[in-house]
Amino acid sequence: MTKEEEIALPDWVGAREFYDKYDPKEILGRGVSSVVRRCVDKRTSQEYAVKIIDITPSDKMTPQEIEEIREATVKEIDILRKVSGQKNIIQLQDCYESKAFYFLVFDLMKRGELFDYLTEKVTLSEKETRKIMRALLEVVQFLHSQNIVHRDLKPENILLDDNMNIKLTDFGFAVQIQPGQTLKEVCGTPVYLAPEIIECSMDTAHSGYGSAVDLWSSGVIMYTLLAGSPPFWHRKQMLMLRMILAGKYDFSSPEWDDRSDTVKDLISRMLVVNPKHRYTVTEALSHPFFSQYVVDEVRQFSPYRRFKVICMTVLATMRIYCNYRRAKPVTKEVIKSDPYAVKPIRKLIDACAFKIYGHWVKKGQTQNRAALFENTPKAILLSLIAEGDEPAQNMW
Ligand code: ADP
Ligand code: MG
Repeated sequence: MTKEEEIALPDWVGAREFYDKYDPKEILGRGVSSVVRRCVDKRTSQEYAVKIIDITPSDKMTPQEIEEIREATVKEIDILRKVSGQKNIIQLQDCYESKAFYFLVFDLMKRGELFDYLTEKVTLSEKETRKIMRALLEVVQFLHSQNIVHRDLKPENILLDDNMNIKLTDFGFAVQIQPGQTLKEVCGTPVYLAPEIIECSMDTAHSGYGSAVDLWSSGVIMYTLLAGSPPFWHRKQMLMLRMILAGKYDFSSPEWDDRSDTVKDLISRMLVVNPKHRYTVTEALSHPFFSQYVVDEVRQFSPYRRFKVICMTVLATMRIYCNYRRAKPVTKEVIKSDPYAVKPIRKLIDACAFKIYGHWVKKGQTQNRAALFENTPKAILLSLIAEGDEPAQNMW
């Protein structure tokens, strides 16, 4: 019997109703004060995911903290209801409240988090990134049109459905603001934190932040999908926050060698420290990165287009030939002295590192994912030792 079942006594009406209707199963994920389990509707055998939020008085939490969680949960449910129906947002199906627990029943996303998918694939192609980012930015556009700021966009909160479409979840930090209103509350997950949120934590006189923070986190997600590791990362959190404040990142890792200038341009317009100069969501969606490869259904014959294609084919062939002549042969010596310089071997090393150490890639403030790209067992071990057992999911 689970802890939740044990205290499902008659006066815990909401809990009783939940357990009458659903059978809770294995754990799918955990948060600071919640646990998400698969559950089955007893009557229809339909599967769902239930987020169980614990508000039982305990030594670990003060009454004030419990009250804060209760208020935050009521807000989360309110926002989930407001955003219901958008195709890339998780659907809240049912909701129960008791003295000790909240039960939020959602559609089950069997493929889990984008975070784990990325760990499995190491990096994603520009094509796949385009599909994910377009859907994510469309969700952000929808939220911002209703003055809702999500404030915790990250691959752990992006789930995948059976057709690999994304579903944004975890509206625990989401807030609806008045037009022009600014926020000062410091919340989010360090790797994805916008500089203005960090500034708010350091300066009580700060004018606050707004919906632009979601564009920063979207930029961090986009970079991470393509590079495999986040743009701002340091084992020491203080140094990482400093890198964010300075907007200090680059496209120098080998993963960026084959990426287009268009994709780098879009990322660099999202990762702008000054929120006033950062792309808005509408600007981001209008960027050429999202209009690439849109092929007309019916193509008219055009002699000019045909000529252009022939010219480009000849030029591409010449380029391939010249590159081939210039390419150094891959000898045993090259592989021994600098294996990481040879692309197929580099991919193999990264894939092996993720296969071996992938289960250590933990979520939250310290991204071991970045450590895996350092490619030396010592660096990986150091980062694991530095982090201890279970890093906190959210910083604040
Ligand atoms: P928290 O606010 O505690 O972070 P989330 O709503 O983000 O809670 O859920 C925690 C984790 O549970 C998610 O990161 C995901 O792994 C899993 N999860 C949440 N909702 C679902 C769902 N509908 N289907 C499958 N897994 C889910
Ligand atoms: Mg979460």
